[in-house]
Order: sequence, then C-alpha cells, then structure tokens
Amino acid sequence: MARNKVQFQKGLSLNEFLKAYGTEDQCFEALYALRWPDGFRCPHCGHDKCCELTVRRLQQCNDCGRQTSVTAGTIFDSSKLPLIVWFQGMYLLTQNKKGISAMSLHRQLGISYNAAWRMKHKLMQVMLERDDDQPLSGFIEMDDAYLGGERTGGKVGRGAAGKTPFVAAVETTEDGCPTRIKLSVVQGFRSAEIKAWCQQHLTQGSTVITDGLACFNAVTEAGCAHDRIVCGGGRRASVEEPEFYWVNTVLGNLKSALRSTYHAIEPKYSHRYLADYQYRFNRRFDLRALIPRLAFAALRTPPMAYRLLKIGLG
Ligand SMILES: [Zn+2]
Repeated sequence: MARNKVQFQKGLSLNEFLKAYGTEDQCFEALYALRWPDGFRCPHCGHDKCCELTVRRLQQCNDCGRQTSVTAGTIFDSSKLPLIVWFQGMYLLTQNKKGISAMSLHRQLGISYNAAWRMKHKLMQVMLERDDDQPLSGFIEMDDAYLGGERTGGKVGRGAAGKTPFVAAVETTEDGCPTRIKLSVVQGFRSAEIKAWCQQHLTQGSTVITDGLACFNAVTEAGCAHDRIVCGGGRRASVEEPEFYWVNTVLGNLKSALRSTYHAIEPKYSHRYLADYQYRFNRRFDLRALIPRLAFAALRTPPMAYRLLKIGLG
C-alpha cells in the first residue's frame, strides 16, 4: 500500500527543536522576530527605535519613553513561566497528532498542574481565535455532531442531555480530497443559528452538502448552494453515504483522539478542545512550521486572565 504523504512527512524532531529553541535567548529572539518582523515598533506611539533594558528584557521607546516587552499585550502576558517552557509546551501541543492533556504537560514540563492547565487553555484559545476569521470555501460536507454524554449511559443522539452540539464541516477539493475543517460549538441546530454560523465560517458561493435536517436549509440564506441528501432508513444512515465520507471520518478520528488523550472534557471548554483538533488538522501538511505559526498567532492574541479562561462557555 502506498504510504500516506501527510502521515509520513518529516515532523520537527526533538533534536531539531532543541537546536532551534533550546535556550531562553533563542526563544526570546524567535518571539522578537515574529512580533516585530520589520524591527521594533512601539505599541504606544508607533516609533521604531528603542533601547533594551537587559535585566528584565524590556524595550524602552526612544520617543515616548514607555516600556514594553516582546510578550506585553499578548497571550504570554504576565505569565511567570520562562519562554523556553512555553516553547516546549507549543512543541508538545503541535507535534502530537492527538493533542496532549494538561496532566501530561504538567508531568513532562515539570510545572504545576495549574500552570500547565493555564498554558494549555491559553494556547487552545490562540488556535480558536486564529481559525475564526478563515472561512471554508468550495465544496463542504457538513453535519450536526455532539460531544460528551457517551459514558453516562444517557440517551444517544440529537438533543440528549449532557451533550454539547457542534457543527462539523469539511472542505474538500473538487475531486473529493479533504483540505480544512471547522468544528464549532453551537447553541443548537436551529435555522437562525446555522445561518449565522455559515455567514461567519463559509465563503459565499460555496456548495454545502448536508443531510435532511431542516435547519440546514438555512445555508442558502448565507449565500451558499445547498445539496441536500436525504438518506433513507433513519438519519444516521448518512454514515453509510459516500457524500458524507470525510465528515464522518473526521468525527470518528476526533472522538478517538479525545478519548485517548483526555480523561474527560468539561462541556464549558468544548469549543477550545475542538479548536485544538481543528488547528492541527488544518495545518497537517506542514508539521515543521507549526511552532513559529502558533507563536506568531499567540503574539497577536490578546491576554486572557485566568478568571476569563475558567469561565469558558459559562
Ligand atoms: Zn513609544
């Protein structure tokens, strides 16, 4: 059997990682270059000259005199962890296909569980915000899906208690190869909700394939063409339909990854766990670039206080 090119691509080896990000200085330089690719720019006045206060690695603007740092105003802001630990966390988070739990981060990085949890949730928040403004386009397989509730022995299927509903959508090429996915928590499967979701996450003019669930008719209200496949023998028969091959495959892999990586997922954080899986899937063609790309996005994500992180979806 031919080897799958995506699965067998060269990742970033631990050795290469250590060569590139093995010291605090290297991590600082990497962040500096990603934050200010054209040289320093004062976040307060826009001036481009500064002097560096070496003790605490602060930049002081030569014009307005205010101090800033490479991590100020970003998701790394006010973290007490050394940059090197953040990079190690980004390495573990991006190079593991199935993700990594806060408990494993705590053990492997030698930091407290709470610090590991904060790091993981901040990085997942970065992934969530990064993908939010990159809509899918072209051909899209879309389905309703649910997280959680499987182990409680409760009702199976749509609307069961304890389940978090989310939209699963897979963008494919014209000849049916999957390119990117979107996994977004929604309040429920109602027309208004689907219309709003499509407006935010799909490019107008895309073709969306769904099953017969009524709310999916709203995709046309968001300017997309709708290809509705009504499956005989109950709604779950869509699992058998070739039109939904990729969305079913992605959902199967997602659930197996979540089951093997996490003991449990609190429903109020489901959006971040889905974003974490989605982020890695959408960038699976270039594993080696994942660390600089995540660091770049992290530097452009505003700080998030622990209190807000904990609230989640509330
Ligand atoms: Zn300034």
